[in-house]
Formats: sequence, C-alpha cells, structure tokens
Amino acid sequence: MVRLNEVRSGEVAIDLPERTDAELYFIGRIHTPWTDRLTCPRQGRADGPTCRIEMFAPWDKGLDSITEFERLEVLYWLHESRRDLALQSPRSDGQARGVFSLRTPVRPNPIGTSIVQLLKVEGPMLFVRGLDCLDGTPLIDLKPDRSRFAPLAPAQAGDFQVGDP
Ligand code: SAM
Repeated sequence: MVRLNEVRSGEVAIDLPERTDAELYFIGRIHTPWTDRLTCPRQGRADGPTCRIEMFAPWDKGLDSITEFERLEVLYWLHESRRDLALQSPRSDGQARGVFSLRTPVRPNPIGTSIVQLLKVEGPMLFVRGLDCLDGTPLIDLKPDRSRFAPLAPAQAGDFQVGDP
C-alpha cells in the first residue's frame, strides 16, 4: 500500500480524467490522536482510543435520533491520498494487486469506512471508538450500522424478491 505518495516497484499509475462526476459536502471533521499516516492504525478497532466526530451546521440537525444506535458506519474522505494508482504493492515487494481488491486509502475516490461504537453525543460532537483516520479528516456521511438497522419505511415489492426472475 502506498502510505505516503510514492509509486513503488510494480505499482501502476493511471491518467485521471480532467473532470469529476459529482460533488460532495464535507459535513464535519474527525478528530483523532493520529497526525501521521505512518502511525495511524491500518483499520480501526473496537477497543481503540476515543475519537470525536464534529458535525458542522446545518447538518447537525440530522443527528436527531442517532443515539438509538450503538454502532454507526462512518464514511470519510481520505484527503491526503493520491488517487491515480490502479495497481498497488501492499507489501512493497513488487507484487502488485488491483486497487479494488484492497482497502487501501489510495483509490480513485478515497472514501474510508469504519464501523464505530457510539459512546455519547454532546451537541454536534459524537464520541466514538473504532476509527483509523488522521486528525482533521473530512466527514462525508454517517449511517446506522446495517447489521443493526431495520428499514422504518414500509416494505416494497423488491424487498420480497429472491433469486433470478
Ligand atoms: N477503515 C477504512 C476502510 O477500510 O475503508 C480506511 C482504511 S485505510 C487502510 C487506513 C489508513 O489510511 C491509515 O493507516 C492511514 O495510513 C491512511 N489514512 C488515514 N487517514 C487518512 C487521510 N485523511 N488521508 C490519507 N490517508 C489517510
């Protein structure tokens, strides 16, 4: 995996298109103990340090009812990642693999996801465990952990569809 911005033996960079297809809102900022990519955990752990997710106004209104869930899925923008590698060498040994077979931060859309334990909410600030990103990483979404979530909206036809038609 590229941990800083180098291209290693066996890795393949591609030319990125000039335009992007969509825009995002950075809806908050994540506060963690890590200021250096080389000391960040590679994946968050449930017993890791408490981190804070600061939700910006006006999106903080969307935190209503969030305390019903002990576990949340957090999506964040790995803003210091390069985006142009198609093949990467996670062990830096010249053996490369496709980016989509890895959870590397270096990807065309550098979106990171973690399942976190929600400890408490104080106004627009959520206290969680389970993150693995740099201090200051932009937040792009929060959702209830899907394994604990049952849709609140009425079922619709596709919900009962199994197998191929
Ligand atoms: N848990 C997420 C996932 O699986 O989608 C992210 C995993 S990624 C392997 C975690 C690594 O990304 C960290 O060890 C660190 O090297 C790097 N990283 C963390 N925050 C970053 C940021 N804001 N910009 C670029 N790289 C970051």
